[in-house]
Amino acid sequence: MIELNQVTKKYGAQFAVNALDLQIGDGEIVGIIGHNGAGKSTTLKMIAGLLTPTSGMVRVMGYDMSKDSTAAKRWIGYLPEESPLYENMTAREYLLFFAELYGLTKMHARVRIDELLNSLNLREQEKLTGEFSKGMKRKVAIARALLHDPRLLILDEPNSGLDPLTSFFILNYLKTLKGEGKTIVLSAHNLFHVESICDRVAIIKSGRMIVCDNMEAIRASLGNREFHVVFRAEASLDQECRDYERKDGSYVFRTNDVGAMSAMLAKISENKWTMVDLSVQESALEEIYVKLMTN
Ligand code: ATP
Repeated sequence: MIELNQVTKKYGAQFAVNALDLQIGDGEIVGIIGHNGAGKSTTLKMIAGLLTPTSGMVRVMGYDMSKDSTAAKRWIGYLPEESPLYENMTAREYLLFFAELYGLTKMHARVRIDELLNSLNLREQEKLTGEFSKGMKRKVAIARALLHDPRLLILDEPNSGLDPLTSFFILNYLKTLKGEGKTIVLSAHNLFHVESICDRVAIIKSGRMIVCDNMEAIRASLGNREFHVVFRAEASLDQECRDYERKDGSYVFRTNDVGAMSAMLAKISENKWTMVDLSVQESALEEIYVKLMTN
């Protein structure tokens, strides 16, 4: 669906994006993360065909976006980071206006707008968009990006400035769109959101790709996994073994080695100690991100 090959964007002598390679397959959700100014929006704009790379190639659905973006744009829905609306229109009027620009017939537009207003839970339709809350405005902007039923959605910080409930709603909505077969590439600062919905995560630092993989692979190569075995024993084990930490009347054994964890489980069973809990603590994307950015 998307192919970036050694894509560079320079402003004067400054590299906004530097020799970026990225492939995104049909139906994937890929999240791009990085600090302010890392090059996320620039990358998304180049994929959307709104910016031309200084060098390198961007292909979307087989089209070279520097030469042939018009055909690809029919299939692209783009949500910019800032998306001001026409504030003296209702959501329906605003969407109808854009549906006409997209060339939808009036009847098709009405059906599509009803569908989008319902699925995005956009009530208070008689209100002018200027009177909408930030969350409702963002939903209208998302509806606008979806009007022409694009196959590829490019979303620049879709959850920026939204409260947790609205964010949760949008995340679930994106999962539904993925279920419908859409390909989604988004940028975000909330790493928990990225981790919760993306198939793969691309981390960009100063215009360069540091890593792009699924969370499992990122955790395996850059993160930490620790098993916590919690058990109770009749007698005190404080003297016997320093490997156990006391916690709320129980003992906790921590290890990142599967063999040591299995041996501990066998020991609990042999000694007829009481098993309380076994859990796996894995590094969150946030931890890995901080580690990568500060190294
Ligand atoms: P943020 O998280 O703050 O939105 P970002 O990762 O999206 O940041 P970009 O907006 O892609 O970052 O910007 C990347 C770099 O390119 C920044 O240093 C920015 O100042 C620079 N840049 C972006 N657009 C222009 C422009 N039109 N002219 C000059 N420099 C620009």
